[in-house]
Amino acid sequence: MINLELPKKLRASANQAHQVGAQIFRPISRKYDLAEHEYPVELDTMSAMIEGLSDSGTQNISGAAGGRKVKNEGAEDGSAEPRGNANGGNMSALLNALETCWGDVGLMLSIPYQGLGNAAIAAVATDDQLQRFGKVWAAMAITEPSFGSDSAAVTTTAVLDGDEWVLNGTKIFVTAGSRATHIVVWATVDKTKGRAAIKSFVVPRDAKGLTVSRLEHKLGIKASDTAELRLEDCRIPADNILGSPEVNVEKGFAGVMQTFDNTRPLVAAMAVGVGRAALEELRGILEEAGVEISYDVPPNNQHAAAAEFLRLEADWEAAYLLSLRAAWMADNKKPNSLEASMSKAKAGRMGTDVTLKAVELGGSLGYSQRTLLEKWGRDSKILDIFEGTQQIQQLIVARRVLGLTSTELK
Ligand SMILES: Cc1cc2nc3c(=O)[nH]c(=O)nc-3n(C[C@H](O)[C@H](O)[C@H](O)COP(=O)(O)OP(=O)(O)OC[C@H]3O[C@@H](n4cnc5c(N)ncnc54)[C@H](O)[C@@H]3O)c2cc1C
Repeated sequence: MINLELPKKLRASANQAHQVGAQIFRPISRKYDLAEHEYPVELDTMSAMIEGLSDSGTQNISGAAGGRKVKNEGAEDGSAEPRGNANGGNMSALLNALETCWGDVGLMLSIPYQGLGNAAIAAVATDDQLQRFGKVWAAMAITEPSFGSDSAAVTTTAVLDGDEWVLNGTKIFVTAGSRATHIVVWATVDKTKGRAAIKSFVVPRDAKGLTVSRLEHKLGIKASDTAELRLEDCRIPADNILGSPEVNVEKGFAGVMQTFDNTRPLVAAMAVGVGRAALEELRGILEEAGVEISYDVPPNNQHAAAAEFLRLEADWEAAYLLSLRAAWMADNKKPNSLEASMSKAKAGRMGTDVTLKAVELGGSLGYSQRTLLEKWGRDSKILDIFEGTQQIQQLIVARRVLGLTSTELK
């Protein structure tokens, strides 16, 4: 029989993340929605707390270590083969992302030292690199003015000059790009070799030649800074490349793309978190208005708003379970690209559907700033865009289900 209950150790860390969402994020949620680009100083106190958590071996708050391969708890002989269930780093990261985003997505994305670049580093760094970059705050810079969805179209270049890489190019829409201490930059080491030549590099924010050229004004997640970065003859040490510098045309794009298998379920979990926040708020509003939501009576025999609420809740549950599956597979070393994209496609759409329906069913209260519903409606949209849009996730799912390559199905 399937047991969908969370293990005790994960419940404890999820509960801790929930407290962060409830006690640190919610009270300042509106403040930083109204003060775009202002640094949420309240989050500084969290750095020490996160440091304490990682020193004690407990999982971190936002899930930035999500991709790190965890020790297989079932393998006493230390073999790499998974035995039993390894509910490790990915699952813990997923729950933490969910709970903190229940509090506030923009603030979650602003937690110091917990960027998406950290997840990339954790996923592929060597032990030596983990020593050097394990405690940095890393943003992730893939998108350029000439492309977004087509990650293979990277034009930023990295040229090896002696014992340094020299980077040139422009990156846009970099989450935490102005606040992070480091940026994980995707660049090509050889334009003639196509996608196989795309590598990721850890660039210190204060490296000479790296500048923040502007900050974006956005629809939602206003607490999160979104930066444009310029790299002009920016020099970094040769061993700041993540993974192998060799261009393996056989392996193609797999190296850098692997990061997405870990980060997409995390973004799905963010949508699950904000979706649950909206459902809880909506339930309160409906109950206040005298609408009874019953699990014993068929939906079509209930108040229309109650029936709609039940439909939204079922949609939310589906997204939650798909996200758990994707993270569980990553922890158990099962290839999960299909499931990661499924979870993100489902949760991304659910997040916007649920939050906007909650605005609608909440009536004038839902549209006003007296609750956070309208804010969640704006915040959730990004979760269906970054780390691959809804359409791109569906494309990936279709390719995998139909067994077609990216050239055969575009
Ligand atoms: C607030 C914010 C934060 C971000 N943070 C980061 C970050 O930290 N790092 C980073 O690198 N990037 C980041 N991004 C960029 C983000 O990942 C891209 O915006 C996203 O990948 C989409 O790219 P695009 O905007 O160029 O849209 P396009 O790729 O131009 O797509 C436009 C539309 O066409 C659709 N489309 C594209 N190709 C296809 C296709 N083959 N079939 C069907 N439909 C298609 C898309 O789904 C979309 O609806 C961020 C963006 C925003 C808005």
